[in-house]
Amino acid sequence: MRGIELGFKEKARKHREASGENTDKKKHQAREGTMKCGIKECDNWSDKSTGGRSLSLQNAQDVWGEGSYVERKGRVKVCKSCYRTWKKETKDDMEYY
Ligand SMILES: [Zn+2]
Repeated sequence: MRGIELGFKEKARKHREASGENTDKKKHQAREGTMKCGIKECDNWSDKSTGGRSLSLQNAQDVWGEGSYVERKGRVKVCKSCYRTWKKETKDDMEYY
């Protein structure tokens, strides 16, 4: 039993490292963060742990228009899906993962 448990944990840890997440964070981390997505109409999180990205003001403006995003220190923090939306709008060759 012990071995199985350890093996599982090891596997989970490796998986998280592979996906580029910070393993030093809390173990029971739910799928939520601390920073809301910078796009006003969006309710997702923009934390890095949830796949969030940072766009420049110009980038955000190009896709969502002026006033529809929240600025943070000259950047707009967006969630994963908004980042995808942005990529879709700005590039034809998306790289999904
Ligand atoms: Zn969003």
